[in-house]
Amino acid sequence: MNIALLWFRRDLRLTDNPALNRALQSAECVVPLFIQSPEEEMGWAMGSASRWWLHHSLNALDASLRKLGSRLVIRQGESASVLRQIVRETGAKQIFWNRLYEPAAIERDKAIKQSLRDDGLLVESFNSALLKEPWEVKRGKGEPYKVFTPYWKALQSQSLEYSILPAPTKVPPVPLETNSLDLDSLGLLPTIAWDGGMNAFWQPGEEGALSRLDEFIDASIGEYATDRDRPDHAGTSCLAPHLHFGEIGPQQIVLEIRNRLELSSKQTGSDSYIRELGWREFAHHLLFHFPYTIESPMDTRFQHFPWNEPDVNKLKAWQQGKTGIPLVDAGMRELWHTGWMHNRVRMVVASFLVKNLRIHWLEGARWFWDTLVDADLANNTLGWQWVAGCGADAAPYFRIFNPVLQGERFDPEGDYVRQWVPELSKMPARFIHQPWLAPAAILQSSGVSLGKNYPLPIVDLKTSREQALEAFKQLGARGC
Ligand SMILES: Cc1cc2nc3c(=O)[nH]c(=O)nc-3n(C[C@H](O)[C@H](O)[C@H](O)COP(=O)(O)OP(=O)(O)OC[C@H]3O[C@@H](n4cnc5c(N)ncnc54)[C@H](O)[C@@H]3O)c2cc1C
Repeated sequence: MNIALLWFRRDLRLTDNPALNRALQSAECVVPLFIQSPEEEMGWAMGSASRWWLHHSLNALDASLRKLGSRLVIRQGESASVLRQIVRETGAKQIFWNRLYEPAAIERDKAIKQSLRDDGLLVESFNSALLKEPWEVKRGKGEPYKVFTPYWKALQSQSLEYSILPAPTKVPPVPLETNSLDLDSLGLLPTIAWDGGMNAFWQPGEEGALSRLDEFIDASIGEYATDRDRPDHAGTSCLAPHLHFGEIGPQQIVLEIRNRLELSSKQTGSDSYIRELGWREFAHHLLFHFPYTIESPMDTRFQHFPWNEPDVNKLKAWQQGKTGIPLVDAGMRELWHTGWMHNRVRMVVASFLVKNLRIHWLEGARWFWDTLVDADLANNTLGWQWVAGCGADAAPYFRIFNPVLQGERFDPEGDYVRQWVPELSKMPARFIHQPWLAPAAILQSSGVSLGKNYPLPIVDLKTSREQALEAFKQLGARGC
């Protein structure tokens, strides 16, 4: 019998999955395989929140495969050895997968592809994760882009006609003798129960992704252009973790939006939304062409930036949402509780860490890596380097977000802060973003005792801003 291996990685879906489609077309029997190999991620093995997501997503994928007559085979170990082992066990002659773009994955996949082909196997890989491959969008002389707007224009000028591959209605059964590890034995779930908030908020898996998209198009996309900046409104799609794990693809999203909203009044929202997917594409373009940026600044002047030695107490206060700056604390607690944080607030908490506390952006990137359910090397690197001012098309160094003004503008009633910082739930809107300015009587009637049940700011916003600007000025003066 003609047998194919389908190596699932972060393409955990059945609809619009080109590798699955190819396997089903070319073989009579398909073995869907997932290999747990965290040591192959070059220092960026999945963090705790991502592992939680992966567990539930694999569970959902297995359930979907079982409905079609198949099942997921789970193994653990070095990918190359496991693949060879399964080839020996099953006699498979073909292996298909969808591509990843992290530098470690690219290196590993290239080596595996070559060595399996040398052994006479048919090995093919596909794009399931991006609108365009990172190498398909390039400047006149073939160089990669470093600025978003021309990149996005160039991408859009290419043909964006997609056709979506339907989910199969049947997948042939996996040979009985091909055994699988039990999902629980991978130990992806936390040993102490801190995942209650995530359980309540998310439905990992393809079904969850499709219903999230459906809900977003119905309820929020029309107002997306204005609401996307408001953490006090549920105005964004929350599709980031589903996209990261490939439970839905960007091509599917664009097509669904176009089909449902053509000529509708929601057009502006959908253009603005698709542009954000463009930032995701751009992040992957940068990661592919400048892989060193996962650890080093794109703007090499920043190699000499005078970061503070991380003050453990301040770093902890930031991580735990106890800085005494309400918007920062609300964001960090939302992150801890749900594994997600609103984009506007991500920018504010990141700016506070790298500019007001002047702690290296990698400390922040690592914390996000461990706690975000959508932790994604391309987007996280872009986000942190953008805020730090050292990335491609980054915010200029003198842009230091003022968390009080940001709060007053984007959370004007203080509802977002009240939701995540219950100590301040009775503070009037006027003072909720800067309780240290509230008169004693207001603090008392709101039940707030600064320094006792809610911290005083761990740093003075004005002085730390000036110090950061001074440090950035010195950097410019070095002229390097
Ligand atoms: C410091 C920092 C770190 C970040 N880390 C990550 C990360 O690890 N993973 C991640 O997916 N996003 C990251 N982002 C980008 C952005 O905050 C999230 O993609 C977004 O908040 C996810 O929520 P959503 O799905 O509701 O987004 P929506 O507003 O609904 O946007 C739709 C999709 O577009 C993409 N997108 C939106 N904004 C951006 C952006 N600025 N950059 C790249 N892609 C974007 C995401 O895939 C998102 O799901 C980071 C941003 C910052 C400032």
